[in-house]
Amino acid sequence: MGRIFGTNGVRGTINDGLTVDMVLDLSRAVGTTLKGTVAISRDSRLGGEMFSRAVISGLLSTGCSIIDLGPMPTPGLQFMVPRLDCVAGVMVTASHNPPQFNGIKVMGSNGIEVSRKTESKIEDAYFKKTFTQVEWDEIGTVDSYETAISEYIQGIKSHVDVSSIKERNLTVVVDGANSVGSLVTPILMRELGCKVISINAQMDGHFPGRDPEPLPKNLQTLSNVVRSIGADVGVAHDGDADRATFVDSDGNILWGDQSFALIASRVLARKKESTLITPVSSGKLIEDIAEETDAKIIWTEVGSVVVSHKLLETGAELGGEENGGVFYPPHLCARDGAMTAAQIVEILATENKTLSKLVDELPTYFSTKIKVAVPIEKKSLLLEPLLEITSNENRITIDGVKLMYDTGWVLMRPSGTEPLWRVFAEAKTQDESDRLAEKGRNIIEAALSKI
Ligand code: MG
Repeated sequence: MGRIFGTNGVRGTINDGLTVDMVLDLSRAVGTTLKGTVAISRDSRLGGEMFSRAVISGLLSTGCSIIDLGPMPTPGLQFMVPRLDCVAGVMVTASHNPPQFNGIKVMGSNGIEVSRKTESKIEDAYFKKTFTQVEWDEIGTVDSYETAISEYIQGIKSHVDVSSIKERNLTVVVDGANSVGSLVTPILMRELGCKVISINAQMDGHFPGRDPEPLPKNLQTLSNVVRSIGADVGVAHDGDADRATFVDSDGNILWGDQSFALIASRVLARKKESTLITPVSSGKLIEDIAEETDAKIIWTEVGSVVVSHKLLETGAELGGEENGGVFYPPHLCARDGAMTAAQIVEILATENKTLSKLVDELPTYFSTKIKVAVPIEKKSLLLEPLLEITSNENRITIDGVKLMYDTGWVLMRPSGTEPLWRVFAEAKTQDESDRLAEKGRNIIEAALSKI
């Protein structure tokens, strides 16, 4: 049977890869599978209004009722779904993808993306078109809910030390990527007593300010503004604000694993024997923090949904990804850019140090990324000889093969979309990291010759 869900919901180019007909049928399939009241939201992307209306129509035809929260961050919708006693949440977003994309994420009653099993049920109804169609007098209702953003902001504030942050009078520059992050983080920061300057703050699906992905190359304006006005910190979100990237007062853009490590070192130290959930792509820095704080790491496959489900299953204290996604379960078992921003300003306030000083105190590692061409028909066959060749190594084989050494590590994984395997390495020196990456390449080539 076909698949419509990718690793993070359904994504496609507007009116091409993703059409109103697809979204209508997908929503009928969702309503057929998860009957009840569904909360919906969207980011600022073009097509958001169009697809939201298709979502509403499809769900209503199956007998579901709708609570429309209006535009808000994905984690905001996720926070509200259980609080509004909904059976599901549907978010119209393509997260960090380029402007011409849009997409659909489906959450269950706990606000977390539905499991693979539920996705399969939805896909089954989608492809067989076995939709529930209720009688004329059983069609549900549509209500709007105006206070979702303020309830979500209060929820975040309840997890940080508001009075300590207020005492510090921090200046924060927020780059909301012309999307829903701008509806939350500037207000949250002001309520935390910070002076807030916003850039790219108007909702505009053309993304005139920058590309929605908070990569260093897209954050030069933020970096310049932070430095030129002497702000304490800059925060940049992706298109649906489940991620946050930070800029220190010198304008340096932090790596995602650095902000994740700063938060992890505080959260994990609060309790003896905490547990941290992180994908195998995370590096040595987070292992160091876990060791320092006596925390246990549970490694997962790469992907935020896997981390969310593992957090629910284990009750772990924290989750995180090397791209800057931080999951703080007392608030939400999903990535949340605004929550992450609140945690970083709390650290600045309580440690009374600059962000660059805090980052300087972290160990430094160097990384290398290379691609090895692998013919498409051999891509999945490669794993078996790869496992054989590395059978005597200290390794993790949850997702690809990760070899771990005292000096660093190397991870080999197939690309999801392209005819290649990716090699990531990390070590104390650039030379060692490059050497480990070359070792990964050689192992892949040796495995290839065995197929
Ligand atoms: Mg996102």
